[in-house]
Amino acid sequence: MTGSLSPRPLARRTFLGGSALATLAVIDLATAPASYPRDLDDVFTLGVASGDPAHDGFVLWTRLAREPLAPDGLGGMPSRRIPVHWEVATDPAMRKVVRRGTAVADPRSAHTVQVEVHGLRPAAEFHYRFRSGKELSGIGRAVTAPLPGSYGRPLRMSFVSCSNYAVGYFTAFRHLAADEPDLVLHLGDYIYETANEDDVRAHAPAGATHTLADYRVRHAQTHTDPDLQAAHAVAPWSVVWDDHDVENNYAGLVPRHPGERHFARRRAAAYQAYYEHLPVRRVSVGPHGARRMYRRIEWGDLATFHMLDTRQYRSDQACGDGVADCPEAADPRRTIMGGRQERWLVDGLTRSRATWNLLGQQVFFGVRDMVPGRQVGYKMDAWDGYTADRQRLLDTFVERQVRNPVILTGDVHKHYANDIAAGPDPNGPAVASELVTTSITSDGDGTDMPSWGEVQLAENPQIKLVNQQRGYVRTVIDRDQMSVDFRVLPFVTRPHAPVWTRASFALGVGTPGLVAT
Ligand code: FE
Ligand code: CA
Repeated sequence: MTGSLSPRPLARRTFLGGSALATLAVIDLATAPASYPRDLDDVFTLGVASGDPAHDGFVLWTRLAREPLAPDGLGGMPSRRIPVHWEVATDPAMRKVVRRGTAVADPRSAHTVQVEVHGLRPAAEFHYRFRSGKELSGIGRAVTAPLPGSYGRPLRMSFVSCSNYAVGYFTAFRHLAADEPDLVLHLGDYIYETANEDDVRAHAPAGATHTLADYRVRHAQTHTDPDLQAAHAVAPWSVVWDDHDVENNYAGLVPRHPGERHFARRRAAAYQAYYEHLPVRRVSVGPHGARRMYRRIEWGDLATFHMLDTRQYRSDQACGDGVADCPEAADPRRTIMGGRQERWLVDGLTRSRATWNLLGQQVFFGVRDMVPGRQVGYKMDAWDGYTADRQRLLDTFVERQVRNPVILTGDVHKHYANDIAAGPDPNGPAVASELVTTSITSDGDGTDMPSWGEVQLAENPQIKLVNQQRGYVRTVIDRDQMSVDFRVLPFVTRPHAPVWTRASFALGVGTPGLVAT
C-alpha cells in the first residue's frame, strides 16, 4: 500500500530537490502503529538535523510540533508518547537503507527525537529521514568521520555563531548550505533570550525568555526558518552554547544583574531547551541543570575538534562586563574553563595525533586592545579577562608541541583573523592562529570597516582582518594546509542577499601564522 501525502509537507521538502520527492511512493502505511492518531499530520514543522559525527555514526534529530509557537512550549502535541521511525540510507532517494529503528517522542522532552546511530561505514555520506504515522520528514544528509589512522578526503568545514531570529533573515545559512560542507560548527548564541524591540521579525514569545516553555518556543521558532532548516539538512553540526543561549554575559551561576532572582532555575530551563533542540548526544544532568557540553569530534588523523564551554564554569567577569584595563583579570585563581575542563583539554591536546587541533569555542581568544593610543583596554567577557587561563593554554601549545592549533571563535559579531603569540606580547612569533566568525544576523546589516575597526588594526598588529558585516567562515582542511574564506552578505534586514568572499587566508602545516591569499 502506498501513501498519499498532503501538499504542505511536500513544499517543505523542496529545499532538498527532486530526489526527495522521488521517494514518496515507498511509504508503507501498513507498518504505522495501530495506535497512531489519524489526526496527527503535519508534525515535521521544525526540520531535521544531524550532529556530532564519529567514524561509525552521528546523532539524528527532529522534534514533532504541529504548532511550534504554542505558548506552553509543547508544540500543540498531545501529552502522550509517539513512536517515530527513522532510517539511514546510502543514497539520496532513500532506497538503500542501511539502518532503521523506532524512537519515542516523549512529551517530557517536548516530543524531541534524538537518535545516536552507530555501525555505519567511516568516511562516507548518508541520507536520513523520519516517519511519524503516515507523514515523512524531509531528507537530510550526514557524513561519518574517517577512522583513526586515516585522513579521508579534504574536510569542508564551515562555522557560524549568533543567529538572532528577530533581527534579520538567515540568508547566510542558505548560502552555507549551498556550499555543501561536511561539517558545520555553531559556536554559541543559537538563540537570543531578548524581548522584542525594533526588530525585523517578531520574536516568540514577545518578552525575554525565562521559563522552560519560553525557551522551547524561542528554539522552535528558530527552527521554523527554512534557511536554518536547509543548513541543518546539508551536514552534521557540532554545537556549543554561549551567553545568549541563557542570558547576556552570565558567568556560571552568576546572572548578568546581581539582583536577578531564580537565575539557576532559568539557566536550567535554557540548558534543557538547548539540549532538546540540537543534535547532541545524551549527557547526564547535574545540579542546577548542569550539563557537560565540552567534548571532542575526531576526524581521523586529519583534525580533532576540541569543543569548549567557556560559559558554564567561568569565574565572574573582572571589573564588570565592559572594556577595562584591569589587574584582576590576570589573577591566576580566575578561570574561564574551570579546572576539570582545562585538564581534559590539556590531556586531549597532549594525546592528539591529528594534524590539526581546532578549538571550537565562544569568546575572543587573542589579545585585543580596544583603546586608541598608549592607553589600553580589553573586553572583560573574553579571554582578555582571564589571562592566566589563556597563558596556561599557550604554554601547553608550546610545551606539549601541540600540532597546528587553530582557535575558532564566535561572539563578537565581526570577522577577525589573528595570529596568536606564545607569550603576553601579542607581536611575538605566532604559535597559533584564531579565526573569528561574524554573526548570522546579530547587530543589523553592519558595515565593512567601521572607524573602530581601523583603530583596532592600528593598535593590534597581530590582527590581520576586521569586518563587521554578517556571514560565516568557510574552510577546507587538508593534510598540508587549511584554507579559509571569510564570507559576507551586504544585508540581512531584507531577504535574498547575495554572498561573497571578503578575505581569504591559508594556514600551513608546521608553519604557524596566517598568509593572505
Ligand atoms: Fe552573539
Ligand atoms: Ca591602545
